[in-house]
Amino acid sequence: MAITQGRLMMLSTKMIFLLRSLLLIFLYTFLWNFAGLFEIGNLVSAFYPAAGVIVFFVYRFGPIYILPSAIAVMVGASFVDPFWQWGAIQISMAIRQLFFYSILGLVLKKTSKFSLPLNRLSSVTILIGSLSVTSFLSALTATFLISTFVGIDTDQELNIIMSFWIGDLGGILLFLAALSLFLDFYFKNYDYNDVFQKGLVYPILLLVIISSATTLLFVATGLTTELGNFGYLILLPVAWASSFYGIRFALFSAICVNTTAIWHYIYLGLSNYPAIELQTLFSVNLVMAMLLGASLEERKTALFDATHDSLTQMLNRKAFFQESTALLERCKRQKRNMAVLMIDIDHFKVVNDNWGHEAGDQVLMQVAECCRQICRSTDIQGRLGGEEFALILDDAGPNQAIAVAERLRLSISSILVPKTDTNITTSIGISHLLTIDDTLNQLLKQADLALYTAKRTGRNKCQSASTLNTEDASLNLKAT
Ligand code: GH3
Ligand code: MG
Ligand code: MG
Repeated sequence: MAITQGRLMMLSTKMIFLLRSLLLIFLYTFLWNFAGLFEIGNLVSAFYPAAGVIVFFVYRFGPIYILPSAIAVMVGASFVDPFWQWGAIQISMAIRQLFFYSILGLVLKKTSKFSLPLNRLSSVTILIGSLSVTSFLSALTATFLISTFVGIDTDQELNIIMSFWIGDLGGILLFLAALSLFLDFYFKNYDYNDVFQKGLVYPILLLVIISSATTLLFVATGLTTELGNFGYLILLPVAWASSFYGIRFALFSAICVNTTAIWHYIYLGLSNYPAIELQTLFSVNLVMAMLLGASLEERKTALFDATHDSLTQMLNRKAFFQESTALLERCKRQKRNMAVLMIDIDHFKVVNDNWGHEAGDQVLMQVAECCRQICRSTDIQGRLGGEEFALILDDAGPNQAIAVAERLRLSISSILVPKTDTNITTSIGISHLLTIDDTLNQLLKQADLALYTAKRTGRNKCQSASTLNTEDASLNLKAT
């Protein structure tokens, strides 16, 4: 039985390798021939993304994929130049490409600070730096090989180095940008709802339309030679997108704007624009999108970390006070109701003592999740201390607030300590905004006193501050 299972495992590992290899060869061949469509000069394609396939497979799945990469390099070019007819120049050029981009894949694999999808500034910087160096060395080698086997004029050498360098750089960046978006979407690191909800698709369409209309305007007015001078304008929308919306929108807009521009330059016959300048523009556009997008992402993360508790993702004490003070002022000005809930887990020490700190942490996360489920988007939720949470309920009158507290108490009571059938209970103190002079500290203090009473009178209950004075009338909503 075990042997059969082992064989099955081996078989499926081989199948996975085979399927991935086929995908690698297909992608490489497709992109190699696709890039041929965008030839804007002898041997120069506007972008050369195929080498990115080698980089990615070796980076993601290991050195074993150098072998299918070698087959891909042979198959990819064979539609134009069959590999069985290759001479020394083609063979050495193929080995050069395989060597440099496999090494890059391996280096990225070994660099712990690098990860695809590209969400962090460190990853983006490592990618741009290592890719620039690798594609430059690859271009130098290519030029050396061409001059050795074919021979080139000395004044052409620099031009060829630059074409190879920037063509590979721009192409691979474009491929990895598209791949980063795909991986992010596929592995659901991010749900992309906001892209549609906030209407981010429309600005991108607008960018493409504006870029197309501008090109058409130049063509219609016969000023096609002038268009080249305005090529840098494609940087502006991408800079805007990256600085305001983060990495995903940055990559998406750079890909859209670059490919739109490439189609314009090729199919409107605007061949007067120097290829290297065009490639540089596309590369700079992608580099800018990656750097600005990732740094915005990093700033967003830093801001979140500074204002949120890392365990429960709720607001920390400082941010809670800031946001609550602002909400209190708004409620007073607009004469809206407001309530404060102080929540404290009952006998939490017992959870830690009996089942360990980790189980305690799990419980805290689940309590935070219950709070999130109960709250409206305008409410404020914070973790004030160890196992104490506070909620500010916007526009909630006394009865409503008590009802919300009771629902929360019931919802928390269904939480089990991990791997046990022990339930958690909480006590909740509630205070209400009653006069214009109430301050946040007073409201929190009243809620805290109510909480103390709830604890003192048996726990697992909600206690409103407004009924505190008459002990008999104290709310005891404990479910029986
Ligand atoms: P009571 O019903 O009176 O509230 O009893 P209690 O045991 O909950 O009382 P107390 O407030 O004294 O205990 C709080 C405990 O919460 C003490 C501390 O070990 C634990 N705690 C505080 N922060 C954390 C945390 O981040 N993780 C875990 N697992 N435990 C924490
Ligand atoms: Mg407690
Ligand atoms: Mg406590």
